[in-house]
Parts: sequence; structure tokens; C-alpha cells
Amino acid sequence: MWGRGLPTHLILQGPPAVEVVLKRSARAKRLSLRVSGLDRRVSLTLPPRVRLREAEAFLREKESWLRTALARNPDMVRVEPEAEVLFQGAPHVVELATVKAVQVEGDRLLVPGRAPERTGARVEAFLKLQARHRLQAASDLYAARLGLPYGRLTLRDTRSRWGSCSAEGNLNYSWRLIMAPAEVLEYVAAHEVAHLAEMNHSPAFWDVVTRLYGPYAEQRGWLRQHGGQLHRYRFKD
Ligand SMILES: [Zn+2]
Repeated sequence: MWGRGLPTHLILQGPPAVEVVLKRSARAKRLSLRVSGLDRRVSLTLPPRVRLREAEAFLREKESWLRTALARNPDMVRVEPEAEVLFQGAPHVVELATVKAVQVEGDRLLVPGRAPERTGARVEAFLKLQARHRLQAASDLYAARLGLPYGRLTLRDTRSRWGSCSAEGNLNYSWRLIMAPAEVLEYVAAHEVAHLAEMNHSPAFWDVVTRLYGPYAEQRGWLRQHGGQLHRYRFKD
């Protein structure tokens, strides 16, 4: 273990120079280097008892991988082992593990280690399933509150809208809402359910939303400000 004088970061000489934040973790079993998909920060996680010069050697060994990862389109995050993906508004690190199905453990998303090339597809399938559960539960709740039934519930991957309600009373949602904070997903469900009563965005419509959900400005604002982020993730090549 390190005593005092442990550096908080290392600099990989450039050009361009890259700052690597050092994180010690009692849980880590090996050195791992990561580029955050959210803010492009580079971090190196060290298990207990790993010495600084081992960390430096590891970093040099991974330098070309790191520079390639940093040069990639920053607007796109490829979901693969060690990547960060949003789940219910919080970043989760994708980790290969001896699990049978994808599962959440703290801030990690554990993915079956067999066939790691299928990681992105597995995470996507997991997120879609979670999205369906949560959107259905929220739609059921608000429809019951409103006293009007809805028809079918369909998940889509639309860029232009987070949800819609058809004239027949069918609800459509973007499954990517599962990456947003839970209350944002719930607001979208309340919004679409409210269209069962008011097929417009009149003041009467917003009154229904408030009645079903409560104050919604913050959640609506989140989608405006951060919603685009949810489209940065690529699950398959
Ligand atoms: Zn609407």
C-alpha cells in the first residue's frame, strides 16, 4: 500500500498530454484504465498493494489504446466492457463477470463474461427489458389515476420524441428513457397518459399532467438539457 505522497494523478506526456486520475479501490482485482463516456476523464483504478511504478508501466503499455479511445468521436459512446453507461440517471461501469444474466450491483452493470463481443447487445436487451417494466408500471399507475385505459404499449428508439400517444390510445416510448433519472421516465409516462384525456398541449392538458404527476418543470428541463446524451450510446457496431 502507498503511504503519504501518493499522487492523485499521472500525466502521460503528449502531444497531447493526458491527465490520468488515480483511484485506489479495495475491491479492484486488477489495474484498469477507463475513459469516461460522460466527461472524457481518464482514470486508472489500482487494486490494493499495486505500486506506482507498476501503474506507470501499465499506463505506458495501454497508451496507444488510450489515445485511440480519446480520439474517437466524443459524441459517441460505444458500450463495451469497461465503458460507462447511464442507468436510471447514474453512470454504471460495464463489467464482465460470472453471472448468468445482466445485473446491477451498486454502480456496476455486471454482464456475462462469455462472448464479450456481445456485451453491447446484452446491455441493450437488459435496458429495454427494464424500460418496459418501468414504463408499464408508470403508465398503469397514471392511467388508473386518470381513470382511462390505454391500448398497447410499444417501445421505440426515436430521436425526435420521448413518447407519443396515438388517437387509438396506444402509448409509444423511447426505451432510452431508462437511462434518464427515474422521475424523468415517470414524467414522460404521465405526459403521454394525460394525452388520453387531452390530445393537445393546451393549458387543460398541462393541468392533467400536474394532477397526475405533480410539478414537472424540473423533469421536463432535464430532458431538454440532457436528453441528447441518451442518444450517444451505441450498443452494436
Ligand atoms: Zn405531448
